[in-house]
Amino acid sequence: MKDSFGRKIDYLRLSITDRCNLRCRYCMPEDGVESVGHGGVLSYEELLRIAAAAARLGIKKIRVTGGEPLVRKGVVGFIKQLAELPGHPEITLTTNGLLLDQMAADLKQAGLARVNISLDTLREDRFEEITRRPGLQRVLDGIQQAAAVGLAPLKINMVPIRGVNADEIADFGRLTLKHPWEVRFIEFMPVSDGLGYTADNRFSAQEIMTDLESIGLLTPMDPPGPPGPARLFRYGDSPGRIGVIPAVSSHFCDECNRLRVTADGRVRPCLLCSDELDLRDALRLGASDLELETILRNAAMAKPKQHRVGEKDYLEGRRGMQQIGG
Ligand code: SAM
Ligand code: SF4
Repeated sequence: MKDSFGRKIDYLRLSITDRCNLRCRYCMPEDGVESVGHGGVLSYEELLRIAAAAARLGIKKIRVTGGEPLVRKGVVGFIKQLAELPGHPEITLTTNGLLLDQMAADLKQAGLARVNISLDTLREDRFEEITRRPGLQRVLDGIQQAAAVGLAPLKINMVPIRGVNADEIADFGRLTLKHPWEVRFIEFMPVSDGLGYTADNRFSAQEIMTDLESIGLLTPMDPPGPPGPARLFRYGDSPGRIGVIPAVSSHFCDECNRLRVTADGRVRPCLLCSDELDLRDALRLGASDLELETILRNAAMAKPKQHRVGEKDYLEGRRGMQQIGG
């Protein structure tokens, strides 16, 4: 499937819940998280119909996300069904890692290929400050367990925020000296308003690189690695690698290959634009497989050339990242 700018769309992010067992300050407010509730969230049957339609249109990779996808009952069985879809798309997962220790082996057995774990600090007191919940050790145990069962290459996502955790960039970089992990630094994105963070809190890719280079010379990967938004580097012959994702400061929109489906069944052509097309009502009004494919195609055609963050009239949307899926 191609969009109107000739980009190949072969990657789908499926948000399966807007609920979460953490409350990261840059993602969700502590109270007033308006969950779309049981009937509002797509059932696994509905999600599978969408995934199957997407696979028929050439989607090769499906990332399961949320909210926290591992809090939804039945997620292991759902991942197994996704992995068994015709064409066998690669199934990956983004998680905060809290439940991975107990679930990694089952997920691997269900056919999950890889996992991205979000972790923004290596300090327990700070973990609680950022996520409003305790749990650093559980996440670290989850990382070990995911690595042990072979959910590899394991990726760790960190969002550095000025005045919060940006002083830990070098500590995260050091993890790649010991472990065969990809540690990725993602620029904070202004997705939803009202969370108390502004553009001033964003630690730019340039600043991230400066901090990373304070502990050693970074060599760009050659070949540069699989296509995707991360710019990849390595310290000497370290087992792990570093990814820097300049989500805002430099457009990688011309490489964008993805569609997103929100937990309440909207397909979102671009993370950083609020436009969405409805899938849920279509599903519940009896849409045929062909009609679902048409909606997904229309969403691909509706992808903008590039996002407009940073432009004077750019407005943050009302939806939180936990609803869109990151
Ligand atoms: N709960 C899972 C997790 O945390 O990995 C999956 C959903 S979460 C919304 C997906 C990713 O979005 C996480 O890596 C999180 O750090 C990131 N994220 C949330 N809000 C963000 C923001 N404003 N800017 C950049 N990344 C953000
Ligand atoms: Fe939950 Fe992930 Fe958002 Fe944190 S970033 S509140 S773990 S959805």
